[in-house]
Amino acid sequence: VFTAKKNGTTITAYTSGKVMFQGANAEKEANCWGEKQLTKSPQVKSKTSALPENLSSLSVLGSDEVGNGSYFGPLTVCAAYVDQAKLKQLKQLGVRDSKELKDPQIIQLANILKDTIPYQLLVLTPKKYNEIQPTYNAVRMKVALHNQAIHLLLKKIAPAKPDAILIDQFTPETNFKKYARLEQNQIQEKLYFVTKGEQYHLAVAAASIISRASFLEELDKESAEIGMNLPSGAGTKSDQIAAKILQQGGISLLANYAKLHF
Ligand code: MN
Repeated sequence: VFTAKKNGTTITAYTSGKVMFQGANAEKEANCWGEKQLTKSPQVKSKTSALPENLSSLSVLGSDEVGNGSYFGPLTVCAAYVDQAKLKQLKQLGVRDSKELKDPQIIQLANILKDTIPYQLLVLTPKKYNEIQPTYNAVRMKVALHNQAIHLLLKKIAPAKPDAILIDQFTPETNFKKYARLEQNQIQEKLYFVTKGEQYHLAVAAASIISRASFLEELDKESAEIGMNLPSGAGTKSDQIAAKILQQGGISLLANYAKLHF
């Protein structure tokens, strides 16, 4: 989060919540900043909860986001619920890791999925993203969106309850829970985190496909609006288009299409 130097002490704050004091007077300096709370060892605190056995065959609510690494376009988050009775059907439809699918396939599959399973999609436009970003860092923003999508979907599917809630992991579990505690409707129960979540349950794969399709559609919409082909990702091409938009309407125009903190 930040690094500071004061009277020869170096203070480093991490997104995990840990703050480190280094230097000859470190202890004295640390004592100025509140009580000691580290009764538990950090290793125990950061341990990730073990996934349930036979996870892939359970009824799971999965969530994933798209657009985080793209300069242009929104951040989209989707939560999807796949009851175990639907698993076979989804497999037959060809639901799998969206990275193995081409864009037209993703859009086609997303449309079918939306009619097949309960889901909750949240789209954070670049404009809104830029408004929130100064107070919410990128991780907190994603936590808030995942948390809210899951909360809304749990309400939609009630009284049915998932055996597990699986989030495609983007931050350590402790970090997720720390930010989730700042939200109004906190999801804490039956919550599991794993990277490459699509490979662990089709609910995450489905969530990933729906959020990816939404991201592509939004990017198309924005491209049509400004009359330029807004690329996905971040690189030279994005920089060149950004320069054109800046020339045309300055930062206020760019703020409608790009995540400005990049
Ligand atoms: Mn993901």
